[in-house]
Amino acid sequence: MFSDRIKDEFPTLKNDTGLVYLDSAASTQTHQSVLDRMNRYYEEQRCNANRGDFPISQQVSADIELAREQVAELINAKPEQIMFTAGATEGLNIIAEWYKDAPYVIITEAEHTANILPWIAQGRTIDNGRLIVLPVTERGTLDTNKACELLANYPNGVLSIHSHSNVTGIGTDYKKLTKAAHDQGIRVIIDGCQTIGTHEFDPYTVDHAVFSGHKMYGPTGIGFMYSRLPYERFRSVRLGGGSVVSYDLNGNVDFYDGPAKHEVGTPNIAGILGLGVAAEYTNYMGYDGMKKHFTDIDFALSDTDIFNIKGLELVFPSYRQNGRYVYTFNCNGFHPSDVSAYLGTQNIATRVGKMCAHPIVNKLSGGKGLLRVSPGIYNTKEDIEKLSEGLCKAIAKLV
Ligand code: PMP
Repeated sequence: MFSDRIKDEFPTLKNDTGLVYLDSAASTQTHQSVLDRMNRYYEEQRCNANRGDFPISQQVSADIELAREQVAELINAKPEQIMFTAGATEGLNIIAEWYKDAPYVIITEAEHTANILPWIAQGRTIDNGRLIVLPVTERGTLDTNKACELLANYPNGVLSIHSHSNVTGIGTDYKKLTKAAHDQGIRVIIDGCQTIGTHEFDPYTVDHAVFSGHKMYGPTGIGFMYSRLPYERFRSVRLGGGSVVSYDLNGNVDFYDGPAKHEVGTPNIAGILGLGVAAEYTNYMGYDGMKKHFTDIDFALSDTDIFNIKGLELVFPSYRQNGRYVYTFNCNGFHPSDVSAYLGTQNIATRVGKMCAHPIVNKLSGGKGLLRVSPGIYNTKEDIEKLSEGLCKAIAKLV
């Protein structure tokens, strides 16, 4: 487990020492170095980027490119493959627009709403055959071999799937699926939101991937897209200042090359600079170190007997000691909202409900909703003990 002192590096945890924060799959805490960087922009460098000939504007423009390099390094990509977005939702909406003419879009039943609604908005449904949904089992897992076989029915479509589920923490074998998809001429989009803060993401040969800053100890409202395919190839679906070299009023537009083509308007400068530092911090902590930390947390959870509480059934119980960072429970004999509300009164943050992934949650819980506990790198054994105590008290009251 990382040192207990790490909590002091996360301002909200430092300032509210009673808070037991176990909702990191919804949003991780922001590291102090990220805040410092964002503040430094507002306190010392406040100006617009890419437009000024004066020193701070030139420096900020260079710093934005440094952030792009920091983010690229985290996923072992090239800076020109990284485009800043407002988050994974925006990234997925942009990509969906690029592929709106695809004959089929294949998703899994475990996708986040952000990877379902942009496709549904195009008039795709299961019934009209333009939306293909790969089912998950009752345990929340995807049968990869079966999924690979199914892909053969949908040549030239688009496969848009997560790399880790925000509901269960279970990972998909996205590399195997990507290979099978490419064999059929299917493009691959990965929602890497739940991977980036906890597990190494390998862009492999995926075509596009999206991520959010607030899942990797960074700021909210900023994220990034990775694209293996050059950005110039894709239509600019957002239009505006800064993305063009020149244009005339007869409709001739000369766009910039690379991600700049799609990064319109004044960017979220503080967010980008903070995101760069968050990427550096994540790199510094290292995915191997995180895996060890989450394994220790897993042991701490086992030690408190949380997995044996009557009525609290862990989804996919065999997925243990493997850097697991999301624990989701079905509640039998009581409602998950009552449990989380009681925990809330004890300043213990968990999450309950459909978790923006209605199809899988409905399947796993029969529509009732699930209770999710998602630790981060700052959680301690003491947090887990408090959670266990809170859960036991809550359930004793409810049954
Ligand atoms: N996909 C997944 C798997 C997520 O967990 C989330 C965030 N809950 C999103 C997409 C949306 O990300 P953002 O908040 O950056 O728009």
